[in-house]
Amino acid sequence: MPCIVLENVFKSYASTDAVNGVNFKIDYGEIFGLLGPNGAGKSTIIRMLLDFIKPDKGKIDILEKPFSEETKGLVGYLPEERGLYDNISVMENMLYLASLKGINKKTASENALKLLKRVGLTNKLKSKVKDLSKGQRQLVQLCTTLIHNPKLLILDEPFAGLDPSNRQVVKKIIMEERRGGKTVILSTHMMNEVEELCDRVLMINHGRRVLYGRVDDIKESYASHSIFVEFEGELPELEGLENAEIRNNSAELFLRVDSTPQGILKQLVDKETIINRFDVKELSLNQIFIKVAEAEKWINP
Ligand code: ADP
Repeated sequence: MPCIVLENVFKSYASTDAVNGVNFKIDYGEIFGLLGPNGAGKSTIIRMLLDFIKPDKGKIDILEKPFSEETKGLVGYLPEERGLYDNISVMENMLYLASLKGINKKTASENALKLLKRVGLTNKLKSKVKDLSKGQRQLVQLCTTLIHNPKLLILDEPFAGLDPSNRQVVKKIIMEERRGGKTVILSTHMMNEVEELCDRVLMINHGRRVLYGRVDDIKESYASHSIFVEFEGELPELEGLENAEIRNNSAELFLRVDSTPQGILKQLVDKETIINRFDVKELSLNQIFIKVAEAEKWINP
C-alpha cells in the first residue's frame, strides 16, 4: 500500500481553481518533491494533506487512511512560516513544542539533545532563539519537526534562506531520515536539491499535474532529446531536429520528440559524415523542468 494517495482532488477558493483534478501517490520510504511556480497549488495540496482544509472533491489517504487524530502524531510538518518563541531558549522551545505532541519531558529532552547534535547546535541549547542566526533558527525548527519521531515528514521550502553549509545539513538530515525508513514530502524551488534527493516528483501548474514520476524515469524519457556530436567537414542537413547549436567540428542537436538518436545517426552515416563522437546527453532535472515550463509558457523560451 502506498503511504499517500490523492485521487482526482479538486479545491477552489472563490473564483480560483487552486487544485484541479490532481492524482498522485507516494510510496513508503520515498523522498517526494512537490514542485511548481508560485500560485501553482502546492500549499493547497499540503494543507489538504494535513487536513487544515478539505478538498471539494476527491479522495486523500495519508498513511493509508483518511486523516484522523492518530495521523497527527505520525506526521512532522515544517511550515513555510516558521514559528519559534524568541524569548525562551532553544531547549525550552523544543520541550514546549514536544509537549504539544504529547511527548513526555524525559523523552523530549533526550530526543532534543540527539537532534541538536545531528544539526551541530548542541552548544546553542541554552541560547534564546532571538540570539540565533536565521539559518540556526531554521535548523532548530527542523529539529522540532522531528522531535516526536514522525513516520512522515512534510517540509515546506526547507532550504529557503539557508547558506550552502546549512543546506548540506538539512540535506543530510533528510537522507538520514529516509534511511531510517521515513517518508518525506518536500516542497521546494531548489532544483539541485530535488535532483540529488528526490525519488519521485510532481510538478504542478494552475492546479494541474504537468510532470510526475520517478526522477530516474523522467530523466530517461528525456535523455534522447539532445545529442552531442563531433564530426569532420560540414554537418549535413538533418531531419527531425528542433534546433542545433553548431560550432567548429562539433554540434549540440536538440531532437524533436518524434525523432530518435538512432534516426539521426543513420542520416549521418548515410550522408557519409565522418563522426568522431556521438553522445546522447542526459538533461539535468532542471533543464527538463525548464523545457516543461517553457511548454507551459511560465517562462519565455
Ligand atoms: P503555491 O503554494 O504553489 O504557491 P497556493 O496553493 O498557495 O500555491 O495557491 C494556489 C492558488 O490558490 C493561487 O492562485 C492562490 O492565489 C489561491 N489561494 C490560495 N489560498 C487562498 C485563499 N485562502 N483564498 C483565496 N485564494 C487562495
